[in-house]
Amino acid sequence: MKIAVIGTGYVGLVTAAGLAEFGHEVIGADKVADKIRRINQGEVPIFEPGLDKLLAASLKRGNLRFTHDLGQTIQAADVIFVCVGTPPQDDGSADMSQIEEVSRMIAENLNGYKVVVEKSTVPVKTSLWIKRIISLYKKTDQTFDVASNPEFLREGSAVSDFLNPDRIIIGVETERARDYLVKIYDKAKDRVFVTNIDTAELIKHASNSFLALKISYINLISNLCEKTDADVEQVAKGMGLDPRIGGLFLRAGLGYGGSCFPKDIKALVKIGEDLGVNMDLLREADRINFDRIRVYMEKVRKALWILKDKTIAVLGLSFKPETDDIREAPSIRVIKELLTEGALVRLYDPEAAANMKTVFPEDSARVTYCRTPLDATEGAHALLLITEWDEFRTLDWPAIRRLMANPIVVDGRNMFDPQNLRGLGFEYYSIGRA
Ligand code: NAD
Repeated sequence: MKIAVIGTGYVGLVTAAGLAEFGHEVIGADKVADKIRRINQGEVPIFEPGLDKLLAASLKRGNLRFTHDLGQTIQAADVIFVCVGTPPQDDGSADMSQIEEVSRMIAENLNGYKVVVEKSTVPVKTSLWIKRIISLYKKTDQTFDVASNPEFLREGSAVSDFLNPDRIIIGVETERARDYLVKIYDKAKDRVFVTNIDTAELIKHASNSFLALKISYINLISNLCEKTDADVEQVAKGMGLDPRIGGLFLRAGLGYGGSCFPKDIKALVKIGEDLGVNMDLLREADRINFDRIRVYMEKVRKALWILKDKTIAVLGLSFKPETDDIREAPSIRVIKELLTEGALVRLYDPEAAANMKTVFPEDSARVTYCRTPLDATEGAHALLLITEWDEFRTLDWPAIRRLMANPIVVDGRNMFDPQNLRGLGFEYYSIGRA
């Protein structure tokens, strides 16, 4: 069975390499020629732990290749995994133009029966649109099926998530499509859960929105903790001990970001409202999330009063640790506010600085990108911890204390031990802790 993976971004690259690791013959294709050129030169265009090794192994084995020729890729494949973007639009709905573009491309190159698999996160009922577009534009009598196989990988652990998934959701409407997909995932067949297509599409949006809801819930509780003597870390621990609740995704902080949760919860709200369902619960969760930056900036102003001409060290720029992805990263809104109020920022991130330079170009007067966390703290009036990269767990605090103009730390992820930092002479602010 030959597999095409269309779109070689965060999901497509991992999918292509992962399916090749399962032993299939895979062609990855993207419309951005430069991306393909870089991959073919052995470069991995994104930072994702373990992806370089996985790609190299499959390329060496010879059952994975990448091309810019989408037409040929589609013609050569029996199964086509669509992994293009579905970014948010102003009204919250997902922009489906990349999916439509690929559907037309598939129609034009339909030279035999194919299974078209939605791996991108799409609104429920998208399969009907894909079917309609392919039927409308196809030039032959060849038949096809559409199936849904939503992706649940997490950036930062995408490789192991793909190779050892908790579940593989397969939404189909024909036995033939089911057989193809079940065969593809034979190596993890004990985790395959087959449903109809609408159900599979909805499982993805419902899962992400639920996790987003959980994060907003603990952030709401953290606001309550700040008005009392309660400690949100202990509240979360105490709650998480109940197996019905579980401790994961109960981390108070700056809220969720990234290319999935913010867009998926908004998309689900829009889907529900378009169908006449009251989605206020999710609307409120998203509003609480948006408010996190205001809550955090209030702490920064409480510590510094005036931000104009203050030097601020910002540690962590990616939307979460172990990725270079800055889409919807909380750091962006924080830095924007700091710059708007006239502060100078010294930024550090282990992997995301290059991407962030496209948002905040390096400007020696106001924006400085630093090579080390220590460098970022030089002359700073405050240190803002935005993303909890592991390397920040072993910071040299005495050295930082000597370098900073004011020893003030505003910890947006409750990463540091308050007693330890206060003991070292820092003024320390965090989330939901007395
Ligand atoms: P991405 O932007 O990193 O990658 C999309 C890729 O598709 C890009 O390389 C782009 O050039 C390519 N592309 C766009 N139009 C194309 C076309 N017509 N033909 C060929 N290639 C085309 O996006 P991503 O983060 O990989 O996400 C892809 C989808 O997967 C989205 O729907 C997203 O919601 C979903 N998803 C993402 C994650 C994640 O963690 N990033 C996890 C699960 C699901």
